[in-house]
Order: sequence, then structure tokens, then C-alpha cells
Amino acid sequence: MSTTRRDFLRNAALAGTGVGFLAFGSSALKDIIKGPFKPIPYANAAPLNMQDAEKMKVVHSLCLGCNARCGIRARVYDGMVYKVEGNPYCMSNSFWEPLPMDTPLEESFKHSGKMCLKGQSIAHYTYDPYRITVPLKRAGKRGEGKFKPISWEQLINEVVNGGIIEETGEKLPGLKMYADLYISKEEVVDAVLKHVSREFLEKWANAITKGKPVEDWKKFLEENIYKLWLPKEEAEKLPEDVKKRLIDPEMPALGPKSNFCLVVGGRVTEGRGEFLERFLYGTIGSANFLGHADVCQWPKWAGQIFAFDRPHVGPDIKSAQYVVAWGAQIAESFNPAVPVWSIFHYRRGEGDLKVVWIDPRAHNGVVAFSHRHIMPKPGEDGAIACGILRRMFETKGFDRRFLENPNLEAAKKDGEVVFSNASHLVVVAPQNHPSYRKLLRASDLGIGSENEYVVLDKATNTLKAHTQSESAYILMDEYQGAVEIPNELYQGEDIDPKRADKYSKTTKGLQVKLKDGSTVYVTTALQLLKDFVFVETVEGWAKIAGVNPKDIIATADELSFYGKKACVVSYRGPVMHTNGSITQWLIDSINMLLGNIGHKGGMIWQVGTGEKIRVGMTLVVEESLGVSNCTEHKRTTKKPLSTIKQKWRVKIHTQPKCPGSSS
Ligand code: SF4
Repeated sequence: MSTTRRDFLRNAALAGTGVGFLAFGSSALKDIIKGPFKPIPYANAAPLNMQDAEKMKVVHSLCLGCNARCGIRARVYDGMVYKVEGNPYCMSNSFWEPLPMDTPLEESFKHSGKMCLKGQSIAHYTYDPYRITVPLKRAGKRGEGKFKPISWEQLINEVVNGGIIEETGEKLPGLKMYADLYISKEEVVDAVLKHVSREFLEKWANAITKGKPVEDWKKFLEENIYKLWLPKEEAEKLPEDVKKRLIDPEMPALGPKSNFCLVVGGRVTEGRGEFLERFLYGTIGSANFLGHADVCQWPKWAGQIFAFDRPHVGPDIKSAQYVVAWGAQIAESFNPAVPVWSIFHYRRGEGDLKVVWIDPRAHNGVVAFSHRHIMPKPGEDGAIACGILRRMFETKGFDRRFLENPNLEAAKKDGEVVFSNASHLVVVAPQNHPSYRKLLRASDLGIGSENEYVVLDKATNTLKAHTQSESAYILMDEYQGAVEIPNELYQGEDIDPKRADKYSKTTKGLQVKLKDGSTVYVTTALQLLKDFVFVETVEGWAKIAGVNPKDIIATADELSFYGKKACVVSYRGPVMHTNGSITQWLIDSINMLLGNIGHKGGMIWQVGTGEKIRVGMTLVVEESLGVSNCTEHKRTTKKPLSTIKQKWRVKIHTQPKCPGSSS
């Protein structure tokens, strides 16, 4: 007897159910079955023929399954959604080639937009029998899992004014109590100035200013409140009303007790963000908002901000020829799945794209078409990035022309849209100099302003403001006039003691006399990156990561070969560790060496554009190309907060500048 596909699926489902009975025992499973579970109604609501077509309508909307927010088209039959598909008019669902907006609706039905599986299943959210549709109040001890439905009015009243758990007699405070415990930064500064002894404040300020007298105490305290830690006897002098409202009077920077209120955001999209901020900052007076991305991927955006001074820099997946996909799985965790990764999947299947996969997990569906699969020890991805960077330095497989541009004008002449600070000089010794670990400013040498940095100009072999040079040295070990200089960066607390002896205490650079008569030692930003990755050999880095060094070498050489048409993209895998942000920065440093930023086939802005970007740790971006579809970007960065009473914040996490449209 032949078995149809439907029979097969039904039998498989029954077989699966049988396994469930065996595994869980009958009583637990019966409880589950007895619960509100029933077949999802919409599955039966689909018309089998078109006789009832007048009952059917098509609704266009937006999927909030993830922050990509793809356009959707829902087919609704007799008031129930029975199918959700991509909106072919939407950029996100159409390989970036949407139907023209004047395409007649009937014509558009011949085209189906793309959606990921999660998006296609969003009707399940709507009809999920477990979906919570009314407020639930705890009806027992915490953890007992007992809840009862209450009205919205009761919810609002008890959340604001406090309430009682009737079943246990437990009294719970309302948010109003926290709002009453708000104290402004100005009030705290005034109290400190009035009540803390001037002797203590002067001693404290001396340590910050290194002996320079403070002229405006109020301003100084406002700017440095985060560094103020009062001894117990000084904190005791603060008025009772102030002490009562501070989390810790000995550490005023922790702010008011209203900061105990935390709002955890999910899809903080249009309208919700403003409401939550107004409520949290303006009404309660708390600074603590925890965004969705703060939990699941903040280190990635932090790493990208280190590298590019902005997050959401991703691959031009339509034109890239070589992609290193790092630490996430297509259709599971790379995001945005539809706008970007459907194209990736399609091109990879066509054999049109060379892919190296770096992930400890081997997942057949993902790895099958990959050209190489590297499986690092979890948390050691940074070592692979260092190995790749080292190999690129060794083979000179980096984009020298791009990196040598010290400013935007020079970059533009080279057909670039961004420039890097690879050539900008950094003070690496002595440690006690105020400019230590900072970029050397042209004003320190008297050759430019405070907003200009210093480079070693290639044409004249002289120090110039970065704005005045067409091309500058990027590696001091390539400059004949460079000398061995002390490098004090690898001393002290930043060093892994087990590897301390591997870091060189010297580097190649220059001794520079500043306008104020002091002497500093400087080298280029790129030289510092090179010094760091040369701490280990490629084999050494491979050993740390637990991978084959040949894979690192081959990947680095291929990246150099494809250059601006290659992209290194990562997601949560390498970054959800304590070293995550630095790992992301190292990964994006590979992109920087490739000089692929803003190029067709390279790394582009996934959301937002047109913003002047400030100096990043390694890459300075003054203009941007790429996909511009995020109006929210401008809205969130330019949001006026003037109406908000809370003026000081001790945030658990700082939000990225563009919480934008990718989660
Ligand atoms: S990628 Fe998937 S889940 Fe995210 S918005 Fe698009 S369809 Fe929805």
C-alpha cells in the first residue's frame, strides 16, 4: 500500500506522541492535554475552494517576530488569519527588489514576498491557547505558580499605589513609593557642597585634577559626581531627607532609590519607546531601562561602536563574493533573517558565494554548502581573529591605500567613503603623562587645533595635523626614521598575568617634544594593533582557539584575495562572553584591514545613514553609503529629553545610538 505524504506526517506525529507518553509518564502529559490545548482553529478555517471567496480579505501589516520588522500580508478568512506571507511591495521581503508601489493589487498576488519560518508562524501567537489576554495577579507564594485574573483598573491601581496578596497577606509597594524617593542630581550636588567638609572635597578633587585648583565647585562636582565616594563620617553629614532618598549616601553616583525601578523593554518600536521613557525617566525618575538588545547582543553593538562608532554595520550580501559567517546559524539566529540572510542562502545554494563558517556547532543545513567550517572553543573566537589579522600583516594582505588616508578628503580622492585612524599617533609612554593612552592632538604640538590629531606625513616625513596630510605612515616599523621607544600600555592591570611576558615593553615609534615642554613616545594606531596580534604566532592563536592553523592561514589569504568584496560578519556566538565586545572589535578590525567599509560587496550601514560619526577606536566614519530605510534612527538619536525631569542617569547599560531595526 502506498503511503501519501499526509499519511506519513500523521503517522510520524502519532509516533512522536507515543514517545512523549513513554518519556513523561502518563499523569504529566494528561495534565498538559487536559489544559486549554486544542487544535489551532485557523488551520481548519482555510477555504478548500473559492466559493466563499467573499469572506476572505488580505491585510497588509508588519511582522514583529524580530526587530527586522518585515512587511507581511495576512490572508484572513471569516475573521481569522489562516496564512501569513511576505509583502511583495516591501523592500525587506523581496531580495531588495520590491514590486513598484503602482503595481495593481491583483497583479501583486502573483508574487509572494519572502518570510522566515518564525514570521510565517505568527498566527500561532494570535491563536495560542496559552496567550495571556488579561492581567494575572499572583495568588499564592512567589514561585508557587498560582495566578488569578484581575481587571485592568485593579492592575493599574495596585501597580501605582501598592497592594496586598490576599492569599498570603503579603504587602507589596507601588511605583508611587519609588517616584517619591526621587532626588535630582542638582539637589545632591548642593547637599554635598553644603554639608561635606571642604577639606575632604579638596583632597578628593586634587587627585582628579592632579593639583590644579578647582574654580567652579558646582560644575566640577556635577561633572565628577561619578567619582565621588564619601567616607562614612562625611556621608553621615548629609541631611536625613537626602540620605533617605539616595541608594547609598556614601556613593551618591548610584543615584536615587527610584533607580530601583527597572523597565525591561521588548520591541520598543514607534510610540512604545517614548511612552516607556516618559514613564520611567519622567514619572518615576529612574535611569534604568533594559532594552531587548542589552540582554541578547549588546556586546556586539559595543564592539561595533568601538570599531565604527556606530552599530548595525553589516554585509552587502547581494554583491559580496566571500563571506566569513561567524557564530550564528542561518534561519535560527542570524538576523535580520529575511532582508539579508535569505539572499545569502539563495546565493550560497547557487554556488555564487564563497562561505567560511565559524561556529562550534556543526549544523548540516548550514555547513553543507560552506567552503570551510572552523569550530572554535566557545569564547575563544577572538584568538581566531587575531590569527587572521596577524597573517594579513605578515603577507601585507591589507588595503594599504585605504588605511593611509588620514582624513575624509584624502579618502574621497581615493574613491573611499570613510577613512580610518590607522595612521593617527597614540601616546604610549610615559604612563603619568595626561595624554597617555590617547591620540596625540595637533594642539599639543602647536600645529593645529584640539580637534585635529597628529600623523606622520609620507610626502614630507614630518608631523602634521591629520587634516593637512594626503597620506600618512600606518606602521612605524616601516618608517626608516622610527626608533625603539618604550611602550607602557602592557603594564598593570590590563594584562593577563599568565601571558605578561609575551607583551613587548617597547615598540617602533617616535619621541616627541610637546608645546608644554614635556616629552612623550608615540606610535600609530595600526602599529598597536599589529603589536597586539604579534604577541602569538598564528599557530599560537590557533592553539588557544582549538582550531587548525591551516584554516586560519587559508581564510586570511582568501580574505586578502577578495579584499573589498569580502565581508566578515558575526552575531551572538563570539560576543556572548565576558570578552565579547573586544572579540567583536577584533572581528571588525579584519573588515577595517580589508578596507571594505561602504563598498559594494563590503560592509555597509544596515540601518540609518547621513549621520556624521565621531572618532571611533579604530575607524573614523564621516559619510555613509548603503541601505537607508530607518527613519527611527534619526528619531531615537535626536530625541529631545528636555521635558524629562530626570537629568542624571546611572544606567545599567547605555543604549546604542541606534536601537534601530535589527535586534
Ligand atoms: S525576519 Fe522573520 S521574524 Fe523577523 S520580522 Fe522578518 S519575518 Fe518576522
